Amino acid sequence: MSESAFGLVGIYGGTFDPVHFGHLRIAEELVEILQLSELRFLPAGQPRLRHQPLASPSHRSLMLREAIRDNDKFLLDDREVNRVGESYSVESLHELKNEFQGKQIALCFILGMDAFLKLPGWYQWRELFELCHLVVVNRPGHVTAIDQKGLPPELRIECLHRWTDNAKKLQTLSSGYVFTAATTLLDISATAIRGCIAKGKSARYLLPDPVLDYIRVHHIYREGK
Ligand code: ATP
Repeated sequence: MSESAFGLVGIYGGTFDPVHFGHLRIAEELVEILQLSELRFLPAGQPRLRHQPLASPSHRSLMLREAIRDNDKFLLDDREVNRVGESYSVESLHELKNEFQGKQIALCFILGMDAFLKLPGWYQWRELFELCHLVVVNRPGHVTAIDQKGLPPELRIECLHRWTDNAKKLQTLSSGYVFTAATTLLDISATAIRGCIAKGKSARYLLPDPVLDYIRVHHIYREGK
């Protein structure tokens, strides 16, 4: 790395209700592809734009802790679950940027394509481009990053000159690129996992065993809960 290059830190936001192998595999691949020094999972407290999570913030955060226990690049950042009121990614990114001030670090905010498509509805979404790079991963059943015709017009225009698939470019600026990578497509969703558990069906091999044990012990996602 040249003296002026930025080190990259991944920030992976989501409800993680519960965390599953779709999240974890993508995180693992992005650590390698982007040479991230660390990747922080940032569970949302009360998301503004979607249904409320079934599991409490503390359960979602503890399930994540179980899932990432043996990976020394993965960290849990529970600032949003500890925040009273709604979660705004832009606020967390402001805080993180301040915390890394003086360290020559660029933040890489990771989003699945389904979440990226909804970006124009996020609070102060354009400010994200001043705070971090966006890393968009494809997700089965959604348009791919290459198929930009499928993006909402304001998002397509905002991103027009920001796209890159060159990981090295992210080290040259502190924010503003939209990076896409060919990560493994895994058609796993928390919705499907919650559905299996509610019906008493097996969710094994869709998420780590310690998370499944946690769900069993705490009776989460069972019908009538
Ligand atoms: P739900 O089914 O409850 O909506 P989810 O499986 O989408 O949950 P989230 O916690 O909402 O999980 O996702 C956090 C982030 O991870 C989002 O940006 C989402 O797009 C992305 N993501 C989740 N699962 C996958 C997957 N299988 N492949 C790619 N991206 C994913």
